[in-house]
Amino acid sequence: MDTKPQDMTQSISNESKVQFVTNRDSKPEKQMRTIAIIVAAGVGQRTGCVLPKQFMHFGDKMMVQWSIDYFKSDSRFDEVILVHSPNIASNIYNTLQENKGLHFVIGGDTRSESCCNGLEYANKLGADFVFIHDAARPGIDTQTIDRLFNALEAGSDGAVPAISLADALWLTNATTGNLSASIDRTKKVRVQTPQAFRLDLLVKAYSGRVLGSQIADDAEIAIDALMKIATVEGTYYLDKITYQSDFDRMKNLLCGPEVKQNRIGFGYDAHKFGSGDFVTLCGVKIPHDHGLIGHSDADVAWHALVDAILGALAEGDIGRAFPPTEAKWRGASSEIFLEFAAKRVAARGGKIANIDITIICEAPKISPNNAALVGSTARVCGIPEELVNIKATTTEQMGFTGRKEGIAAQALVNISF
Ligand code: MG
Repeated sequence: MDTKPQDMTQSISNESKVQFVTNRDSKPEKQMRTIAIIVAAGVGQRTGCVLPKQFMHFGDKMMVQWSIDYFKSDSRFDEVILVHSPNIASNIYNTLQENKGLHFVIGGDTRSESCCNGLEYANKLGADFVFIHDAARPGIDTQTIDRLFNALEAGSDGAVPAISLADALWLTNATTGNLSASIDRTKKVRVQTPQAFRLDLLVKAYSGRVLGSQIADDAEIAIDALMKIATVEGTYYLDKITYQSDFDRMKNLLCGPEVKQNRIGFGYDAHKFGSGDFVTLCGVKIPHDHGLIGHSDADVAWHALVDAILGALAEGDIGRAFPPTEAKWRGASSEIFLEFAAKRVAARGGKIANIDITIICEAPKISPNNAALVGSTARVCGIPEELVNIKATTTEQMGFTGRKEGIAAQALVNISF
């Protein structure tokens, strides 16, 4: 295996980073102990989901698992504590228990009370530093962790990732919601987590402190206790997932755009000529010196299309959905069948990307009716006409269509999800 290019990339990126990065796997000389606390006790009502957001599936795993995996894979962290609600669902708890060595601590009614419980536990385990992190921020990156460690190593009592504000900042009128006064955004930052602290100082800052929901984060408690808290550059990857729109945006950012799935289906049908003076093709009655014989309206083109759609969905065929043994489908309009198939596509979360139908017969002539056939097919499928192609061919007087015994049709459908 050729690993050379990778190794080179590694050494280049390490060179450009601060010194601590190169020591990541060998630990700094002082053998500092560091504990990570992941706060996952919230109920996450603002996303509008039944499940607290930190336990929802995000990418290929539970959202909280992203943070657990990060801290457990970075050898600078000696212990990882998960603070959870006492009401955590047993199946979620059991899944999280599969993380070997992860410590579980029951949280309180507010974030600060939950942090306090985690901190008490961390203090018992003993460490120099503690990193407190929100489970709703799955995008922990090594660079931010490097910067936080650097700030602690440089002598700060604590450090937080912060992002300067790009948008204009305004006060609004409490009653009308109208803009009332602009705020100078310089020297104002958005603060994220993980927040890193000297454990002894943060424990002291917490002790005797009245806790409640009015406390924004651990940095507030630290600052109130006159700890020196540095800011380091944060990252959009660490933005908190609060609303459903954040969920989708962050999933796109951290997991990449979802891979689209496409399914293709093929259908074939044939019906015999009998007495009559028209044939029905794609729901359109076309005058002819014969009719088509069938249990329903014998719309050979739409039958092939329904088979193609059901085939793409792996849902059998038209005969399974509408058994010809059932009298109620006698003489039925095939529009019912196509409507059913189109609804199945929608129910499965798919969209018809395009349809291509080939009608095989010597007569009647299809091309003069082409626009009508495309129009009715697009209408019933609920898609634009430009996604539908209908063409006709003969078999040069060979075979049953060539002998004008009937009409055959083939249909291809492409469904995207
Ligand atoms: Mg048929």
